[in-house]
Amino acid sequence: MALLRYGSRGSQVERLQQQLEAAGFELGDVDGIFGRRTQAAVQAFQRQQGITVDGIVGSQTQGRLQGRADGFDDDGRTNPGQVMTPAELRRLNNTRVDHQMPDRGPGWMGYYSASRRWGTERTIETLKTVAARYHAATGQTLRIGDISLRGGGDISGHASHETGRNVDIDMAFSDGRTDIERNRNSVNATWRSPHYDRAATRRLIQEIKRANPNIQILFNDPVLVREGLVRAYPNHDNHLHLQNMN
Ligand SMILES: [Zn+2]
Repeated sequence: MALLRYGSRGSQVERLQQQLEAAGFELGDVDGIFGRRTQAAVQAFQRQQGITVDGIVGSQTQGRLQGRADGFDDDGRTNPGQVMTPAELRRLNNTRVDHQMPDRGPGWMGYYSASRRWGTERTIETLKTVAARYHAATGQTLRIGDISLRGGGDISGHASHETGRNVDIDMAFSDGRTDIERNRNSVNATWRSPHYDRAATRRLIQEIKRANPNIQILFNDPVLVREGLVRAYPNHDNHLHLQNMN
């Protein structure tokens, strides 16, 4: 398709404006005229996606917009997920427990019930950003366990997880099986398993800290504890606990 830029007009611009609106950028009128407001929205979208910010819509920006619309690219591959900067994440609400992590998305999947996967908007969007980067770097899928119940409050099996800002995630295994698939209570589901993938788990932690620099992570792998990436805590051999996303 032709490049769309400031001054362009017509049905392709109209379609672009609809996509930007669908992606959460407010334009006022969908009028088919690429004016300053459309240009600003394109730039904001490009910034959010971590691609070149020039306000011009070529194949890359178009591909990202399309990916948001259907989740898949032309080859049927899952598109890279949406990436937000720490500054953008900090602007999101971090009090109301009113956003749900779906069962599956670009680079992540949930285990346990989705009814226990509610969080603040900031927590959920942070997880999506982490998943996109982690998946791009390692090919691994971020596996997400309990977060909170809708609205927060006491949740069975946890002392915390009441505020939508605490998240349990699985560490990485080199054979792709989850800790649940290998019996969560067996040693094979822990960092002692021969299939535990420390390098990918380390990368995951680094991506979490990149998106959420002040996060505390509880996990008992002694190597990662020594590296200062996580803190040892009872009962955290078989998963990582993200404490107070902030
Ligand atoms: Zn936990």
